[in-house]
Amino acid sequence: MRDESKPKLFDFQTSVEYLEETVWTSYETLDRAYNIAKDAGLYYIYVGNIQHEHGGNTFCPNCNHLILGRAGYRFTKIDVSEEKSCPKCGYSLKNDIIGEINKKPSNHFAFF
Ligand SMILES: [Zn+2]
Repeated sequence: MRDESKPKLFDFQTSVEYLEETVWTSYETLDRAYNIAKDAGLYYIYVGNIQHEHGGNTFCPNCNHLILGRAGYRFTKIDVSEEKSCPKCGYSLKNDIIGEINKKPSNHFAFF
């Protein structure tokens, strides 16, 4: 017989009910937040857990060139010079990129 006085590690029924009642943040709301942050002048804005046209990518803060393209957890484009600058306008990204840049194609589709 189950002792209801003891805490349960996982209550499947309650969890399913919670998920069914959860109201997810809409694409429109996340897109609006993205644009507000961009208009406010933030450099690196990301929208996660949803397919967003720009929310997974990294753009040059100076010229808006796409320097890191992402699709989910995959890199689709890495366009940063060896000196850690934007290849289009030369803006230095040295203070924003920590570590080394690995442009090997095998890393374009790695999970991090
Ligand atoms: Zn640039």
